[in-house]
This record gives sequence, C-alpha cells and structure tokens, in this order.
Amino acid sequence: MKYPELTNFIGGANKPSVGSRKLEVFSPLDGSLLSRVPLSTKDDLDAAVTAAKTAAVSWASLPVKERVQVFFRYRNLLEKHMEELTFLVHEENGKTMDEARAEIEKSIELTEFACSMPQLISGEVQEVSRGVECVINRVAVGVVASIAPFNFPAMVPNWTIPNAIVLGNAMILKPSEIVPLSAMRLAALLKEAGLPDGVFNVVNGDREMVEAICDHPGIDAVSFVGSTKVAKLVYARSSAALKRVVALGGAKNHLLVLPDAHPEMTSTNVTASMSGCAGQRCMAASAMVGVGNVDHIVKLIADEARKVTPGKNLGAVISAQAKVRIEDYIAQAEKAGAKILVDGRNATVPGKEGGYYVGPTVIDYVTPDMSVAREEIFGPVISIMRAESLEEAIRIENSSPYGNGASVFTQSGALAHWVSERVSAGMVGVNIGVPVPREPFSFGGWNESKFGACDITGKSSIEFWTKLKKVTTKWNPEARTNWMS
Ligand code: NAD
Repeated sequence: MKYPELTNFIGGANKPSVGSRKLEVFSPLDGSLLSRVPLSTKDDLDAAVTAAKTAAVSWASLPVKERVQVFFRYRNLLEKHMEELTFLVHEENGKTMDEARAEIEKSIELTEFACSMPQLISGEVQEVSRGVECVINRVAVGVVASIAPFNFPAMVPNWTIPNAIVLGNAMILKPSEIVPLSAMRLAALLKEAGLPDGVFNVVNGDREMVEAICDHPGIDAVSFVGSTKVAKLVYARSSAALKRVVALGGAKNHLLVLPDAHPEMTSTNVTASMSGCAGQRCMAASAMVGVGNVDHIVKLIADEARKVTPGKNLGAVISAQAKVRIEDYIAQAEKAGAKILVDGRNATVPGKEGGYYVGPTVIDYVTPDMSVAREEIFGPVISIMRAESLEEAIRIENSSPYGNGASVFTQSGALAHWVSERVSAGMVGVNIGVPVPREPFSFGGWNESKFGACDITGKSSIEFWTKLKKVTTKWNPEARTNWMS
C-alpha cells in the first residue's frame, strides 16, 4: 500500500473512524493499491457536525474581508503544491497529468472568485418610506455538507469549499470513497492557510454516510454532485428533512454539427470533448447529431480519434467494472446496427496491464432509440446520429431526459443563435466542445442534470450558501434626548 490508511478530518485533526468498515483505494492507472479509506458511521458524522456547529458561530461573526484572507493563502498553497496535487489526482483518478493539472488550475480560479466575495455581497439599503430604512444583509446558512463524485477529486470539492466557507458557513465534505486522497490533502492545506479548526471537516464514507448527511438535523444545507439516480435520492431525502439542497446529476450532452461547420476546428473540438478525462466528464460530448451531409467532418473526427492513445494522451477509466460497462455499450450499438468507425475495446497499455483503459470510440449511424444514444456511457465514446433538418436535430436533443450541456458547430451566427435558443440545456456552446462557463458565471444544468433552484458555482451559488436578513428601521424624530448632557 503506497499511502498510509486514511482517517477522517474533524475539528482540525485527523480522526480515525469509530467504525470498522473500510474500502481499498486502487489506482486506475495500473490497478495498484494506494490506500484504505474508512466507511464512517453516523457517530463520526455526529462528531463532525458538533465540531462544525461550534466553529461556525465565531467564523460567521468575522467580517467577510477577514474570512477571505484565509482563501488568499489557500489559493497560494494550491499553486505552491500544484505538482504534488496534480500527481495525486492523476494517481487516484487515472486522468492524464495535463488533465489533473487543469483541475488544480481550475481550483485556483474558483478560489479567486471566492476571494472577490467582499465586492460581490455588499448589502442593499433604501429609505422605503419617510424616515424608514430597509437594509438587506447576507448571512451564512450554518453547517453545510458537500457530497462529491469520483471524476474530479479536487475540482468538484473546490466548487463548494471556497464559496460556502468564505460566505461564513462551516462545511462537512464527503468525498467519493473511490478517490478520497486529494480531499484529505485539501483539508491539510486549508488548515495550513489558517482556517480555524472545525470550519472544514472531511467525513469519508459511502451510501450510509450520504444517507446520514441527508437525515442529520444539525446540517442546514446539502450540495451533491454525482449520478442522476443518486441526485434524485439525495434531493428527495434532504428536502424531506427540510434542508436546502442542490443536487447535480448525470448528463448526455449533444453536439449539433451543421454542414458549414469549420471542419478542422469542429473535429478537434468534438474529439477533445469526447475523449478528455476518458469521457468521464459531466460536460463531455457524448452524442453528436450531424445535420445534413457532414460526412467530411465525421471522417476527420475518426482521424482525430485515432491520434488519441491510451496511456499517452488518454487516461484510464475509473474501474474494471467501468471498462466492462463501457465496452458493453459499444457491443450493444454494434449489435443494433450502428457502425463502429474507431473501436476502443480491449485497449491495453504496455507496462500497465493492471490498469483500466478504453480507447477512443467513434460510433456512426446511431439511431435515437439505441442505448448509446440515450444513456450516459461515461467513457471515451461518441455516438453519431444523423438528422435531415435542424428541427429534427433539436427534437433529438430535446428528447433527452438530461440537460447539462449542448453545443452547436456552425459558421453562421444566425443558425447558432437559433439552435442555442432551442436546445434544452443549462450550458450551451457555440463552436465549443466543453461549454463550461468560467467564473464569475455559474455551473449548473437543467432537467435531470440538476435538482434544486440555484447553480453550484459562481454568482448563483451565493444565493444557495446564504440567507437574507432584512432589517427595517424607524427612529422617533420627536425623541431628542441629549445623552451628552
Ligand atoms: P455517484 O452518484 O455514484 O456517487 C456520487 C456520490 O454519491 C459519492 O460520494 C458516493 O459515495 C455517493 N453514492 C453512491 N451511490 C449512492 C447511493 N446509492 N446512495 C447514496 N449515496 C450514494 O457518481 P460517481 O460515479 O461518483 O460520479 C459520476 C457521475 O457524476 C456521472 O453521472 C456524472 O455525470 C456525474 N457528475 C455530474 C456533474 C454535474 O455537474 N452535473 C459533475 C460531475 C459528475
């Protein structure tokens, strides 16, 4: 085992779980054993909530300008430890070093946004009738929980940590039990940055811990990022316990490619979108709809995909089970009559035979009813459908239950506008394969890709992590007591 067994991080210190359940953590790169993580109990969560509740009071009472000072230092620590964190993400998630580094760079950008909070959350004041003034202030929600998926071990926790904590909340993070190492390292860096003990806690665990978080009366708000199936459970269970909740789910992002699209730019963008992070991004291109004759672009996409090599510019998928699931989807499409232009099944990387690799896969002549067209595959696979008209392409996109991202590739501004108005997705790209809005814009999809009112990052998240206090004041103009006399 490469790293010591993990603990939880509660009240500013590493604390072993009081329970005995544990899970082994493997590197998808070569299948080697990295560590063991505790699958914590409700008693561990109770300890974390108590620590957070105690710390939240004095933390929230600090002016926001003081709270951001910790995050200026945290930002610099992320930069200082960039290579170490990059390697950790690479090792536990299996993505390439470049992709892992991008995750840390994005974490820095997210922290910089949080550092600008004093400029963003100044209150409002107005004389609402003669001599009567109303002031609005933003107040922390209290103790909040953040539940994360496996695909971004550092970035997704940092979607929530800086904003929620700068806004005065105390947090309990539940990382994915498959990739818990980066989160524990972030906890140590937050402590080094001077965050008071108890303001940030990590409780490792699985389903049992998620359910305990949803039910816990001491937790005021829950953010969740993961699959739609679990997002629905978390949304329903946390809401039933009367908590504020935002739950981001899975995706099936459609790219609409028009015949006038720039061939080289489109093919490199589509390929990078479907194969980046081995297709394990909730914003990955997963379905493409070619409108009219786009054969010349499909050919270039297949050529581009052949340049993507597992173990070089393509990372591993998360587990042996994920590899089997993805390859099974490819087999289903083949059986249903689709044409496999580039086949990533049975990929191996010399010297890393224990790793979990799937090569880039391009499937053409997929029909909208096939499983590869409808379901989230979460692997480096693109399913290409054909449509006779833009209307038909929109109908295909709109029929997906998801609604995270959608993109259109064209050189016509008018058509791009027409399509972006009609796709049913929260994040839309024009000639962009991965249309993630950068700070200060917010991240969040529609339909079954997100449950809850606010987005999870950017300005929209300020609404989620705070509540409004409205103070209306009237002074008696007749009372002229001179306290100085
Ligand atoms: P997942 O839903 O399996 O796990 C997410 C979290 O839920 C983990 O912390 C896990 O411990 C917990 N969990 C798993 N099963 C549970 C259950 N039955 N009950 C309660 N908790 C449970 O997701 P994953 O496989 O880790 O991540 C991949 C998924 O996340 C994909 O569907 C992807 O699209 C999605 N995702 C979405 C976004 C977004 O912004 N919409 C971002 C990243 C990932």
